[in-house]
Amino acid sequence: MADPNGFLKHERQEPKKKSYEERLSSWGEVYADVAPDERDEQVRTQASRCMDCGIPFCHSGGSGCPLGNLIPEWNDLVRRGDWAAASDRLHATNNFPEFTGKLCPAPCEAGCVLSISPLSGGPVAIKRVEETIAARSWEAGYVQPQPAEVASGRKVAVVGSGPAGLAAAQQLTRAGHEVTVFERDDRLGGLLRYGIPEFKMEKKVLDRRLAQLRKEGTKFVTGCEVGVDLTVEDLRAQYDAVVLAVGALRGRDDRTTPGRSLEGIHLAMEHLVPANKFVEGDGPSPVDADGKHVVIIGGGDTGADSYGTATRQGALSVTQLDQYPTPPEIRDDERSPWPTWPYILRTYPAHEEAGERKFAVAVKQFVDDGDGHVKAVELQEVRVQKDQETGRREVVPVNGEVETLPADLVLLAIGFEGVEEMPLLEGLGLTLSRRGTLSCGSDWQTETPGVFVCGDAHRGASLVVWAIAEGRSVAAAVDTFLTGASDLPAPVHPTALPLAVV
Ligand SMILES: Cc1cc2nc3c(=O)[nH]c(=O)nc-3n(C[C@H](O)[C@H](O)[C@H](O)COP(=O)(O)OP(=O)(O)OC[C@H]3O[C@@H](n4cnc5c(N)ncnc54)[C@H](O)[C@@H]3O)c2cc1C
Ligand code: SF4
Repeated sequence: MADPNGFLKHERQEPKKKSYEERLSSWGEVYADVAPDERDEQVRTQASRCMDCGIPFCHSGGSGCPLGNLIPEWNDLVRRGDWAAASDRLHATNNFPEFTGKLCPAPCEAGCVLSISPLSGGPVAIKRVEETIAARSWEAGYVQPQPAEVASGRKVAVVGSGPAGLAAAQQLTRAGHEVTVFERDDRLGGLLRYGIPEFKMEKKVLDRRLAQLRKEGTKFVTGCEVGVDLTVEDLRAQYDAVVLAVGALRGRDDRTTPGRSLEGIHLAMEHLVPANKFVEGDGPSPVDADGKHVVIIGGGDTGADSYGTATRQGALSVTQLDQYPTPPEIRDDERSPWPTWPYILRTYPAHEEAGERKFAVAVKQFVDDGDGHVKAVELQEVRVQKDQETGRREVVPVNGEVETLPADLVLLAIGFEGVEEMPLLEGLGLTLSRRGTLSCGSDWQTETPGVFVCGDAHRGASLVVWAIAEGRSVAAAVDTFLTGASDLPAPVHPTALPLAVV
């Protein structure tokens, strides 16, 4: 039984971060190392703030955790110090809690009853509890390979090794199928490897989990673009089912601003991928911010990752631009009522370290240095509004004033347009939807029989937690397709919309 008064006794506490100097002198995670005993004690206190509400909005897919994590259950187990049982309950719904514990924006916390009123001391620190259970699980040896007891004799190909592909592969391997994950990159992990920077999640965390998957029997092939290096004919001939977890990696470009073709202007991923490769030991990045004035266009999370990366590379200045006005500091109940995901100003550790953010501005033009390279951006204050006739979003200058910012490196972090065009899709007879994604039926099967889809490829650029939830769900569908029935859990339906995080 939870302590119904815990939140009256204890305030929410955020984990301690390293000093700015320490953060900027290395690529490691931003949070300070705390001795395990001290950490466990702090987190037990935080978990004791959960009152096990009658309706735990935190764990429902609609407004809370897409995985249906059993949050009140493991909060109470942690409060009582039963870490082994907490690990068991957490892994019952989440293959990779160490990823979500570090990376998830935590819609569960936005849906926590303690986030209704600021007077309650803040929501339960669910994500921190999750991360600590995961850390403790590895330290104590609770995480062990779980190979299947009986082999089904069926073979599954998973295309793409991001969190969706890995979750699907682990579930299907444990169900007894022979699973091979194909990855076109030289290393495994998808955006966990080459999108998300080391300072948000160190790659050793990913490698440790991959070792578990290997020991369970999942096979991996890297440097193999399916549809090119492995033909579609061979794929279909060699495997009984195919899971497409190819992501939605087609970056949105700026096709209208004058000067876009100048050198020194890149999509954010052209900066983040080689920066991550550098941290892996692959040598200098061709798109490095060292000694440069950096302007990042796009106020979202990818922009924040470029921001922290540019700072660590030694940028002279970093400025992130957002077309929208500064969001409110606290939830506006009219616009995003509890328990939905609130529209508020999100300040990431990268923003605290250096640089500046500008809101309600847009680039009028990129300025040439006379040699074909960008040297500045001209900014205007803008308003985003709906065109009365077409209903489309338009960005209009507020006045004629122009501000010039020096810029030797400009990074476009303005979103993703969907799945990349690739020979694999044509070979399988699949076309992209208007949203740039791959559609499927209620059984996660595309219009090509035996070919399934999950993760960003299905829902468009989203979150790690949704990728894992879809990977688990597609595994249940593939298992049913291969054997006629499945005991695997399916946390989400293909039509489930992220009501909390958009
Ligand atoms: C910079 C950045 C930072 C992010 N930060 C966060 C965060 O902090 N928290 C969060 O929750 N989410 C974050 N996200 C979103 C999150 O990373 C994605 O939602 C998630 O990785 C999607 O998982 P996925 O498995 O569907 O696809 P991906 O991770 O994109 O993996 C797809 C994989 O498929 C491979 N592939 C594609 N085609 C083929 C082919 N034909 N053959 C073989 N392999 C192929 C690709 O190389 C890639 O490795 C971030 C995204 C970006 C871009
Ligand atoms: S995965 Fe995300 S939403 Fe689910 S419990 Fe963890 S932090 Fe919350």
